[in-house]
Amino acid sequence: MQKIDNYIDGELVAPIDDAYLDNVNPATGQVYALTPDSDQKDVQRAVDAAKAAFSAWSSCGIETRARLLDKIADLIDENIDILARAESIDNGKPLSLARNVDIPRASANFRFYASGIQHFASESHYMEGLAINYTQRTPIGVAGCISPWNLPLYLFSWKIAPALAAGNTVVAKPTEVAPMTAYLLSKICIDAGLPKGVLNIVHGFGHKVGQAIVAHEDIPVISFTGGTETGKKIATTAAPMFKKMSLELGGKNPNIIFADCDFDEMLKTTLRSSFANQGQICLCGSRIFVERPIYEKFKMAFVSKVQKMKVGDPLDEQTRMGAVVSETHMNKVLGYIQLAQQEGGTVLAGGQRVIVDGDCAEGYFIAPTVIEGLHANCRTNQEEIFGPVVTMMPFDTEDEVLQMANATPYGLAATVWTQDLKRAHKFSHQLKSAIVWVNCWLLRDLRTPFGGMKQSGMGREGGFEALRFFTEPQNICIKL
Ligand code: NAD
Repeated sequence: MQKIDNYIDGELVAPIDDAYLDNVNPATGQVYALTPDSDQKDVQRAVDAAKAAFSAWSSCGIETRARLLDKIADLIDENIDILARAESIDNGKPLSLARNVDIPRASANFRFYASGIQHFASESHYMEGLAINYTQRTPIGVAGCISPWNLPLYLFSWKIAPALAAGNTVVAKPTEVAPMTAYLLSKICIDAGLPKGVLNIVHGFGHKVGQAIVAHEDIPVISFTGGTETGKKIATTAAPMFKKMSLELGGKNPNIIFADCDFDEMLKTTLRSSFANQGQICLCGSRIFVERPIYEKFKMAFVSKVQKMKVGDPLDEQTRMGAVVSETHMNKVLGYIQLAQQEGGTVLAGGQRVIVDGDCAEGYFIAPTVIEGLHANCRTNQEEIFGPVVTMMPFDTEDEVLQMANATPYGLAATVWTQDLKRAHKFSHQLKSAIVWVNCWLLRDLRTPFGGMKQSGMGREGGFEALRFFTEPQNICIKL
């Protein structure tokens, strides 16, 4: 069976204790590879390598760093078919999604920061006739990057690329649930000629490898994407050590549909924003609020389209809904569907596991599920489900829907559908969401700040925000 290796000091290596975890294909339920079950000792090796590489990497010049990041992007593009297939098998996502979104976005992340670092400039502040300040932003040292399973290579590269571009060396931990493309990336980095120790990838469990990275005294900066509960644990360890932290956490995003929207465009996009990647995108709109005059029309049209969505083998080119990522996650999502019914909800579509014929008979598939009749404050509408499940609620006034939309502990993303420009501006501004899409969804410009309010996170990624995060500002004031 294929064994994944750690990538430490420029080499592919087995974990020191030679211990491995099963890596399961969620579409078949079968173990198909083994992932290193690394621990603190492997992290220490990675930190030693990253520390040794820091001086040369941080001083080699931005052109050199940019050229290497561009080379990595080129190799990702050249290997798109291999990477997309690996992502689909590892994660359960449709091959078409991996090929059209995940992998192109991973190469875009490297390319974006290869270019971004060349446009990142120091600030200068002139004090009229008195002094001049200039603010240098220098690489910090060894950065710890920890990422989740829903968009494995896409989110892994979203952290690594700016950290490396800014001149840091990196110890990274991909998700243990879908580690394959991070492993393939390590081979790409070797082929690209990335100097040894600049990027180190240690595989394994969060409570072992992740915790060892977060607690390591020689890693002063942590970039994490994952669940809010994990974010709290990380902050508990890292805050007293005064580490710089960027936390991108969970969400419970509202999708707010006013009666004056472009109905067809809204319907098409709402199908995507509800169920893309089996609803396992932190930005998916899981609570759909519909203005009462069009509630019944929307319900009929939406439910009828959802009932026609085919769940199937992720490797089939026609499949648009694949498997959820694991058996544990499938059971968690099914548990929430049960809870919704106990809370008084009515399942209008889906609501159960799907058995797919053939090789996928043992896979973890859930029918896209639509639920109505729930109060905005019930657990189903407050807690993150992170699967192919949405709830629908009618509303009568802007104030009412604003209150419901903002009434969760989360504040990641929101979608607003209206043709009224004035309302779009005013209403969006009042939403407690760090990202608001008006008449669209997941339209991403990598230059914009990306992150969450409230319990959806701390700090922002994207554009120069990430380069600021991965550098230490130092102001020097010279008296004239
Ligand atoms: P998770 O929190 O379980 O795990 C994320 C990563 O953290 C994994 O690599 C895991 O091994 C590691 N980890 C676990 N415990 C750790 C610990 N104690 N110390 C250090 N690292 C630890 O999240 P997940 O289940 O992989 O991903 C789903 C979650 O991620 C959802 O809540 C989703 O909303 C969130 N997410 C957020 C964003 C965003 O940008 N805000 C993007 C994608 C996913």
